[in-house]
Amino acid sequence: MSEAIEVINPYTGTCVGKVPRGGAAEVDAAVRRAKETMPAMRNMPLHRRAAILKKTSQLLQERAEAFAQLITQESGKTIRETRAEVARAAAIFEYAAEEARRLHGETLPFDAFPNGENHIGFYLREPVGIVGAITPWNVPLALAAHKIAPALASGNCVVLKPAEQTPLNALRLAQALREAGLPEGALEVVTGYGEEAGDALVTHPDVGFLSFTGSREVGIGLPARAGYKRVALELGGNSPIIVTQSADIERAAEAIVRGGYAVAGQLCISVQRILVHRTVREVLLEKLIARIRQLRLGDPLDEATDVGVLISKEACDRVEKAVQEAVQAGAKAAIGGKRIGPAAFEPTLLTDVRQDMPIAINEAFAPLTLLIEFDTLDEAIAMANATPYGLNAGIYTRDIEEALSAANAIVAGSVMINEVPTFRSDLMPYGGRKQSGLGREGVRFAMEEMTETKVVCIQRLI
Ligand code: NAD
Repeated sequence: MSEAIEVINPYTGTCVGKVPRGGAAEVDAAVRRAKETMPAMRNMPLHRRAAILKKTSQLLQERAEAFAQLITQESGKTIRETRAEVARAAAIFEYAAEEARRLHGETLPFDAFPNGENHIGFYLREPVGIVGAITPWNVPLALAAHKIAPALASGNCVVLKPAEQTPLNALRLAQALREAGLPEGALEVVTGYGEEAGDALVTHPDVGFLSFTGSREVGIGLPARAGYKRVALELGGNSPIIVTQSADIERAAEAIVRGGYAVAGQLCISVQRILVHRTVREVLLEKLIARIRQLRLGDPLDEATDVGVLISKEACDRVEKAVQEAVQAGAKAAIGGKRIGPAAFEPTLLTDVRQDMPIAINEAFAPLTLLIEFDTLDEAIAMANATPYGLNAGIYTRDIEEALSAANAIVAGSVMINEVPTFRSDLMPYGGRKQSGLGREGVRFAMEEMTETKVVCIQRLI
């Protein structure tokens, strides 16, 4: 395909750049080049892989401001958010450099069973071969790093299909990896649309492992299309935070506003539902409103801006409609509630929300939080679990039994105690339960998924 895709700055509406509209032929050619490079990657000594990853981390740090400005222009995220994202991507590469040195199996005590007498051996971790990586636009550089860095650390080649909204930073990252010494063909980037280039990567028979981050709507259909290959899915969320009677309300309010409105609420682990004990509702609400009122909206490139824009006009249409329908069903905007530009929506907090409303069940992916009251912790936990999602959840409490009950009973990949669900450390096993995903990222855990175990067994001739 020869057509180009225009990358549009969602804040200004202007064109930031153009990339090729790749399709099946481009994916096939990229997979072929990766296949030719597989022996070189597989046989590359670990210290050499580590050196390339470390150098990439350094290049990202040296070029941090240029990367941040580019991502802000592609995505509408604020410059402070994209600076933090670039620092995070650099740290992921550095961490992968360290983990590359720890890629090992272990010895096997074969003689623990009678048939294994006189046998010794071990297992190794071998690369799966080619990792197909598909990434979303909302954290484009760090999430690409979460796939590329562990894949290379474990000796794989990668074919990356970045989101069509934010492909330019992925191309720049590939350039940095080449400068750091990565062999040609070890990372191929194919730009294009999901249904074209993305689907071709999903269905390609030579891709050994598919690592997808994106929406539930797209992701749940992928294993059936992927055929005989391993699949990891990092999908959407609708994160609950429980605030109990014993909570430190001041700290909870500060964290909820931080976790609910970062990246204009467009994070898979944004705080969406605030489940609050009825007795502390008023005090929490007052503190939340005061903090949300202080958020500064505006030009994402302006240092002072707290909340940027949504990714597109269509995304803004969707949240506007969802809020209108919720208000018709009885919800009230305690603050915000209105569209303020083609892709800009006021930071909004809705009260009088019931857990059975669509707005409380679906992923909002917007600067929107919902306040829902509960009377007992069991009721709060049941509401926390009452969506198809199970990514991250949180609880603010000073009561250890409440904390442990929530940690035990909430069906989620992570439960944060006195921390918002929006917290993520790049070293933790990260992923979702239910329809929030399959498999775990976080460098060491991704390396496990991107490798096969092979047993080597030796019978002693004595
Ligand atoms: P999306 O599903 O629309 O697109 C994600 C990627 O998939 C893009 O590269 C897109 O081109 C590609 N794609 C689309 N259709 C495809 C198809 N049929 N076959 C193959 N690839 C296809 O999601 P988005 O709007 O870019 O991102 C937002 C979503 O991602 C939200 O739901 C968010 O919660 C989720 N997300 C999850 C995580 C996580 O770690 N769990 C992290 C970030 C974002």
